[in-house]
Amino acid sequence: MDIVSDGHLRLPASFIFSGMPEVEIAELMQRHGLSKEGLQPYCNLTLLRQGDRTILFDVGSGPNFMDSAGKVVDALSEIDVDPGDVTDVVFTHAHPDHIWGVLDDFDDPLFSEATYHISEAEIDYWTDPNTVHTIGEARQAFAAGAARNLAAIEDSLVRFKPEQEILSGIFARATPGHTPGHTSFEVRDRSESLLVVGDAIGNHHVAFEQPQWEANSDQDKALGAKSRTSLIEQLAVEKTKLIGFHFPYPGIGFVEKSGSGYKWVAA
Ligand SMILES: [Zn+2]
Repeated sequence: MDIVSDGHLRLPASFIFSGMPEVEIAELMQRHGLSKEGLQPYCNLTLLRQGDRTILFDVGSGPNFMDSAGKVVDALSEIDVDPGDVTDVVFTHAHPDHIWGVLDDFDDPLFSEATYHISEAEIDYWTDPNTVHTIGEARQAFAAGAARNLAAIEDSLVRFKPEQEILSGIFARATPGHTPGHTSFEVRDRSESLLVVGDAIGNHHVAFEQPQWEANSDQDKALGAKSRTSLIEQLAVEKTKLIGFHFPYPGIGFVEKSGSGYKWVAA
């Protein structure tokens, strides 16, 4: 298993922290050395090479989202993988930093040989023509972008229902809230088992200390907090390794109980 960096995003702190308790969040930001302008979440793509399959979890931002992201092709070439070698792409969800990378600079599918796997709830939501009207102004570009990128790969798309094995050794688990069909994946690779959590745990600064705090970056904030809280509790109890898409590269580690909350322990 390799973690391939797509670069990082640049986001105002309010994108995630808006609406959280003000005094506590100011203290937390100071403790972590964060400024209001300055979150720079990493984008960690998981690559699994298993027999004749090369499986990529999410594809990153592509050339049209942010200058600081869309670096996956360079990162793949560093480990001698060509985009055409990827046999399967598995999506956690259809936000820009996870799906816009399906198209290259010329708007052609970058992973030309891949079959794409996405949960039914996720594709149904983003391909519904009403979504762009109901999602709210702040996320309208996300809706248009998801519909456009999904349409570009529709001939190679496979829909799955979660809570089952979708590829050999890969189990899909519904973790909705960040988006309606957000999915995490348990990967059993020989002796190792780990969870690709995507954005179900989207920010390591606050999510472990205060998993129940509603994150502004979650579309359904209450459901996102519920999914995150139960996921973190389970990961801590079972001592399961996880990969966080937006955690400091490579984003692999464990969750441990700490005081009334939890803490992230990089592996
Ligand atoms: Zn993301």
